[in-house]
Amino acid sequence: MDKQQEYVLRTIEEREVRFIRLWFTDVLGVLKSVAIAPAELEGAFAEGIGFDGSSIEGLSRVYESDMLVKPDPSTFQVLPWNDDEGVARMFCDILTPTGEPAASDPRSVLKRALGKAADAGFTYYIHPEIEFYLFKNVSGPSDPLIPVDSGGYFDHVARGTAHDFRREAITALEDMGISVEFSHHEAGPGQNEIDLRFADALSMADNIQTFRTVVKEVALRQDVFATFMPKPLVDQPGSGMHVHMSLFEGEQNVFHDPAGEYHLSETARKFIAGLLRHSAEITAVCNQYVNSYKRLWAGDEAPSHISWGHNNRSALVRVPMYKPDKSGSARVEYRAMDSSANPYLAFSVMLAAGLKGIEEDYELPEGASEDVSAMSRAERKALGIRSLPASLREAIEIMENSELVAETLGEDTFEFFLRNKRREFADYRNQVTDYELQRFIPAL
Ligand code: GLN
Ligand code: MG
Ligand code: MG
Ligand code: MG
Repeated sequence: MDKQQEYVLRTIEEREVRFIRLWFTDVLGVLKSVAIAPAELEGAFAEGIGFDGSSIEGLSRVYESDMLVKPDPSTFQVLPWNDDEGVARMFCDILTPTGEPAASDPRSVLKRALGKAADAGFTYYIHPEIEFYLFKNVSGPSDPLIPVDSGGYFDHVARGTAHDFRREAITALEDMGISVEFSHHEAGPGQNEIDLRFADALSMADNIQTFRTVVKEVALRQDVFATFMPKPLVDQPGSGMHVHMSLFEGEQNVFHDPAGEYHLSETARKFIAGLLRHSAEITAVCNQYVNSYKRLWAGDEAPSHISWGHNNRSALVRVPMYKPDKSGSARVEYRAMDSSANPYLAFSVMLAAGLKGIEEDYELPEGASEDVSAMSRAERKALGIRSLPASLREAIEIMENSELVAETLGEDTFEFFLRNKRREFADYRNQVTDYELQRFIPAL
């Protein structure tokens, strides 16, 4: 047993933990959990705990359904919201019975992608801005969505639910070792944003899974309903997850060059070029539901076109420079991903796209300083600005032909993902919507 494992066992005794939840994630990003008793833990560390993987989305083919979950002791945390305490969690890796990483464990997909970056000398850091809505209690899809307040961007809502909500959520996150940098009311009524302090991409993907659980948990306690749905309200902004990223070599941020435009290094420029060139291919992963495209195409600062810029909030990639004189820092903000994406897979494909730009010396096109959504088609065409996919279907068709995404996700995950999404789109296409009834009855 190693030191970390010993620490976990000791803490379990000291804090009288009685249930240990083993957490892992399916291909669509849904968190799964199996609880074990403390007595089982030594065995779990040594060999893993067996379960039937065939009923987990995308995890395994039916004829090879026996799987193992093996807890990662570095992710051990006592859960702060159980009133009687005594519950802890660890994230797990999923293994096949022969001890190989399971091909479609999203955590292992990300580890593989990070391994590739490490071979090139890079560590990949992420700082996400996570947006979500709070509605008055909703128990099912037919309940109306009534926002908890009518606040807007950065509003201080007096005696607001949102304040209490953010405070309780942030306290729980901090108790679990997840630092929060920033939080505020977002532009939509009842819409909030919480930004996590940067961490390496694997820890951050785990953190985001925890974050979603904490937000749902606090919502239950406060009798409100929290949702990460990309676009719940027709007339209000959707919920995005802007991702700020940087690559480090040791202690050094290799995106930074004080002499470069916006303090960007050549490496950063190539990384952005990679993100832009492959953005259409990775969109299905970063925006995985039919609803995601309603956010991307409704304006409200969500990107629909492929461009980059410094102070341009219509751009897909933005280079923020809040404190331009502070030396050493530079980062790139990718603004397409939404709050419902699988963070392990989305970080994997964003990283792969950026690294490809570095490997192949892509040249960064001219940045856009104007609002690209407000330009005419002809103007965009003249500037060579392409669009992101306009629907899940278009995104799937582009992803199908992407070597980059196939290679990054691995064959099993790639195939499962596409199959699942084709089915989702077909289901959706078969619906006769309220919009159509309003529009065509009695007119047609
Ligand atoms: N809600 C917007 C989006 O969907 C982002 C708004 C903002 O943070 N500037 O991307
Ligand atoms: Mg923000
Ligand atoms: Mg925001
Ligand atoms: Mg942002």
